[in-house]
Amino acid sequence: MNYLSSSRRVKLWQSLLPHWQQSVIGHSELGQAIIAFHQAPLDQCEVLAWSLMHGNETTGAEALTALIQQPQFGHKSWCIVPVLNPDGADAFTRLNHLGKDVNRDAIRSETKEGQALLSLMPRIQPKLVLNLHDQRSCFRGIGSDRPATFSLLAPCSNPKQKGGFDLEASKVASWMANWISQQHPHWGLARFNDSHYPNAFGDLWQSHAATITLETGITLSDWTRGETAQALALLLVNIDSTSWEEIFQNTPFDYLALPMNIDDAMDASVQMGNGQSCMLAYQETLQQGRLQAEWRVLKGDAQQSPAWRHWSSHLPRPMPGEVFDERSAQQIS
Ligand SMILES: [Zn+2]
Repeated sequence: MNYLSSSRRVKLWQSLLPHWQQSVIGHSELGQAIIAFHQAPLDQCEVLAWSLMHGNETTGAEALTALIQQPQFGHKSWCIVPVLNPDGADAFTRLNHLGKDVNRDAIRSETKEGQALLSLMPRIQPKLVLNLHDQRSCFRGIGSDRPATFSLLAPCSNPKQKGGFDLEASKVASWMANWISQQHPHWGLARFNDSHYPNAFGDLWQSHAATITLETGITLSDWTRGETAQALALLLVNIDSTSWEEIFQNTPFDYLALPMNIDDAMDASVQMGNGQSCMLAYQETLQQGRLQAEWRVLKGDAQQSPAWRHWSSHLPRPMPGEVFDERSAQQIS
């Protein structure tokens, strides 16, 4: 995946959507405008989507950028915040500039980015809210031998208060699960734990409108998530072009039948000539304005848990914490 600074990403959106309205819904800790792009007045928008709430989770933003460039896009009225955490996105970090997790700030509302998202709530009553995130490659559905490329969550609105949109969101999640499994029958698909997290924005929005948190992961053929972003873009196109009646007519059961997401997988296990083994984790870091893929050696021997790659090496055991670039990692293998 390419790295784009937040200002360049926003400029790209402004150039792609010259006729859309732009509402500055807040400013980041470093003073960058947080912009909602919308076709219609906010109170008439049918879908609200945001991405880059966590600054190093770019797949949602890439997919939304592909969505708005589709020639057939525009059946529904969208409001999109492509860069909710611009400072975090610039630094390619999960957290905001003050080191706070915006997605744990729905109640306290201490972060400027969280406040921006909250400011939309009284102004918009969409039929569907999409909270787009990436998940680490260690996630898989229980029993699955491949990473979860999509994990769906219909977050739990406050269980003590009636009137949430949990059931409606579960129906949408069923529709999504069916579509994803038809399009990509060999990809991992899982369901996220739906315990109530009052501090999380998905749970808060679920009390206001049907909300789906979508966690995207790697595919085994593309660890940079480019394939995943394309697939997510097509899912969004399909949401745009499918009638609400069809989307909401599902039962929740196909969603509820998905395997639960667990985070026990390893990226690579390396078997060494001396009989020892070790584990490597894949990561992307920002170096001089570019994302670099790296493999980091973890502590301990390889576990019983599944690994997405199995390598063998005649090299001596690498030290925990040692980092290999893509090319050196191939020499290990
Ligand atoms: Zn996230």
